[in-house]
Amino acid sequence: MDRYQARRSRLRKLLRKEQLDGLLVTNFKNVTYLTGFTGDDSWLLVTPREEVILSDFRYTEQLDQECPGLRQQIRPSGQTIVEAAEKVIEAAKCSSLGIEGRSLTVTAHETLAEKLKAVTLKTTADLVEQLREVKDAEEIAETRRAVRLAERAFAVLRATLTPDQTEKQVADRLEHQLRLFGAAGCSFPPIVAAGARAALPHARPDGQVIGDADLLLVDWGAQSGLYKSDLTRVLVTGKISPKLERIYGVVLKAQAAGIAAIRPGVLAEDVDAAARAVIEKAGFGPRFGHSVGHGIGLDIHERPRMAINQKAPLRAGMIVTVEPGIYLPGWGGVRIEDDVLVTRDGHEVLSNVPKEFSDTVVQ
Ligand code: ZN
Ligand code: ZN
Repeated sequence: MDRYQARRSRLRKLLRKEQLDGLLVTNFKNVTYLTGFTGDDSWLLVTPREEVILSDFRYTEQLDQECPGLRQQIRPSGQTIVEAAEKVIEAAKCSSLGIEGRSLTVTAHETLAEKLKAVTLKTTADLVEQLREVKDAEEIAETRRAVRLAERAFAVLRATLTPDQTEKQVADRLEHQLRLFGAAGCSFPPIVAAGARAALPHARPDGQVIGDADLLLVDWGAQSGLYKSDLTRVLVTGKISPKLERIYGVVLKAQAAGIAAIRPGVLAEDVDAAARAVIEKAGFGPRFGHSVGHGIGLDIHERPRMAINQKAPLRAGMIVTVEPGIYLPGWGGVRIEDDVLVTRDGHEVLSNVPKEFSDTVVQ
């Protein structure tokens, strides 16, 4: 059994538990996860005994290469994917079929419900996403490569940073460098925010000249193969104020506390709480308004959510970010983010970009 067959058989177990005769997989990342097919515009029907991928002419050759042996239903031009789905669902004779509530459009749902009178469509959430939470050895190796690429590109960026560069130029250079090192690209559009703009947790890089501010926040990641890394560092590009040094110290301590809490069995919310407690104790609680982290993988944000009220225990093989931050409007923000693998007896921090305060000072 190859890795994709193994994943589909784990999905079938979940379907039995949910009392479903099948699942129509419409989230392309989930299709990729279950089949190895990396194109888009294709759906997968999984039933207890078979599976069929619905695609179109553009992808026939790619399908043969990436998932040989998988049954294909290539729709003729003029037939929509929803019409193609109707046909294969009818042929599969499911009486209760799961659909992916987060990706199937309302229109497609209504059309299917209208045409497939004999089938009960049941909205599901996160069935495949649950499987994706725990990474196998190949996924972990690919994520390690994505982390290495991000680290190497950042080292070059840092060594060649000059005060006249704009946020946008820094972001573009980072992406270029990642690609030169062999990354498929950035894992998301990098956030490069100077000074007060770093108070916006998701600032879009613009024409702000970095030398005009005392700090620069860079949140970036590389994609290696299909897997993504996600890191954040703050660089001190101007004068070192006691306020900046103090806030940086609090965030660093919070991040260390969050990372230290990570091991199998610990609840995701406990990791959030461990980091949040440090920031609250320092009096900055209201200035840390987002969750402490998230899973990474095929998507830049995926399960598990590392947040308040997340009662799911961590499991070995999960890869999560730990990224507390403090944001002061009009002043700036500090966030420190690393990627952490949950191991059988604790955790391993996959990323290793220097982050002591003295390391952040750019000469
Ligand atoms: Zn990030
Ligand atoms: Zn992140």
